[in-house]
Amino acid sequence: MQKLHYDIVVIGSGPAGESAAMNAAKKGRRVAVVSDREEVGGNCTHLGTIPSKALRQSVKQVMQFSSNPLLKEFATLRKPSFPQIMQHANRVIHEQVHLRSAYYQKNGIDIIHGLAAFEDAHTVKLGSRGPILTADYFIIATGSRPYRPDSVDFTHPRIFDSDTILSLDHSPRKVTVIGAGVIGCEYASIFAGLGAKVELINPAETLLSFLDWEISDALSYHLRDAGVRSRHNEEYEKLEYFDTHIVTHLKSGKRIKSDIVLWANGRTGNTDQLNLESIGLVPNSRGQLEIDKTYRTTVENIYAAGDVIGWPSLASVSYDQGRSASNAIVDPKACVEIDRFASGIYTIPEISTLGKTERELTKERIPYEVGKAFFKSTARGLITGEQVGMLKIIFHFETLEVLGIHCFGDQASEIVHIGQAIMLQEGKANTLKYFLSTTFNYPTMAEAYRIAAQDGLNRVF
Ligand SMILES: Cc1cc2nc3c(=O)[nH]c(=O)nc-3n(C[C@H](O)[C@H](O)[C@H](O)COP(=O)(O)OP(=O)(O)OC[C@H]3O[C@@H](n4cnc5c(N)ncnc54)[C@H](O)[C@@H]3O)c2cc1C
Repeated sequence: MQKLHYDIVVIGSGPAGESAAMNAAKKGRRVAVVSDREEVGGNCTHLGTIPSKALRQSVKQVMQFSSNPLLKEFATLRKPSFPQIMQHANRVIHEQVHLRSAYYQKNGIDIIHGLAAFEDAHTVKLGSRGPILTADYFIIATGSRPYRPDSVDFTHPRIFDSDTILSLDHSPRKVTVIGAGVIGCEYASIFAGLGAKVELINPAETLLSFLDWEISDALSYHLRDAGVRSRHNEEYEKLEYFDTHIVTHLKSGKRIKSDIVLWANGRTGNTDQLNLESIGLVPNSRGQLEIDKTYRTTVENIYAAGDVIGWPSLASVSYDQGRSASNAIVDPKACVEIDRFASGIYTIPEISTLGKTERELTKERIPYEVGKAFFKSTARGLITGEQVGMLKIIFHFETLEVLGIHCFGDQASEIVHIGQAIMLQEGKANTLKYFLSTTFNYPTMAEAYRIAAQDGLNRVF
């Protein structure tokens, strides 16, 4: 059997694994990445972020056509089906794989295909016929998968999760989404955008309750407008399966009939195939690994990053965590905790958020004020027709320090980064004043910062 030795072996080729490997290779280490798929990219590229964002983009374009008086007639000619827009997503996936494979090649990183399982703390085996890899260090970046409770029959053709929904072969007329987290809300938007009636089962009182209240309210309003019925404070009890439909029973006694059910209720860390018993690593009940501030697990030479370590389970953060985990090995001074990041939520409308919410600041008794800009008040918003949206800046009442940026509407996940660049400045550079003393291109959505800052200052002075 072939035996290969490396300085570092990274298990998983999603964002966490990729950045861990690139960083270590650029700093002169001999690195291999183990990928259980034939193609690199991890679940992020094949099942999660990339396909869902590509699907959403197509649906949004269809919606834009339908609402634009100049293009409306084309939209009504032929609405694309779910499999058709999935074809576009598949092209994006293919391109992404191509790009990412080239990065590995350029950086001299070996990609080894197979399912890794530990033999001991310095050895992994790739199946019965694959090579044996030994290494000084391992970085586990095996990601996560949808949580599948035994009570749900995932073999039934009308039951899907966020992985299997990508193989849906028709456009359903009525969809029940169980679980109203980020993934549930994003898919609710996608199906509503394709014209389906969507029932969204939410155990909480509001949608995405971690968001600023106005953003959460706006999301509820626009989802409702698009044909999503959000059922708050409701929990799934059981499913009844039929050839022609499926019935969701809620604990409150209500029943919902739909063509398909999308189960979007939690995720599990991919640790069950790693033979962790052999190295004495014990994941928690969600399959996730505990790490210290340097991304090191309880085994000295084994580190972990990405979804497999749990919250926040974002591709963006996973990428930075992977780099930090590998820095902990090759360049410890550059290893940082990733705790201040913006979150993008690709519902329709899009949402992005960074920093404190009004609720948090009120609880902490920090005096704050708010400045807002509505997209309909910007020239760019009027020109593009993207008038749904708002930028909300929360700032300290006395120092004017920017404490939170919350945005919904077209390009929200881009717009937030302008504010982030200011908010994360040290010293006095992180105040509202920057937005008033800067010349923004005109017309741009960035101008919303000036409008919001002026609105905020008017409330203070
Ligand atoms: C529907 C959906 C939409 C999302 N949208 C966004 C978004 O818009 N923005 C965002 O930031 N995040 C988003 N996410 C989250 C994002 O996809 C994850 O946070 C990210 O993929 C985590 O990256 P990772 O590197 O930890 O692992 P992954 O991308 O999960 O990759 C890990 C890889 O390791 C493989 N693996 C597992 N076990 C082994 C083994 N024993 N041997 C070898 N390989 C193994 C896995 O099969 C997988 O291919 C979304 C997720 C989903 C499901």
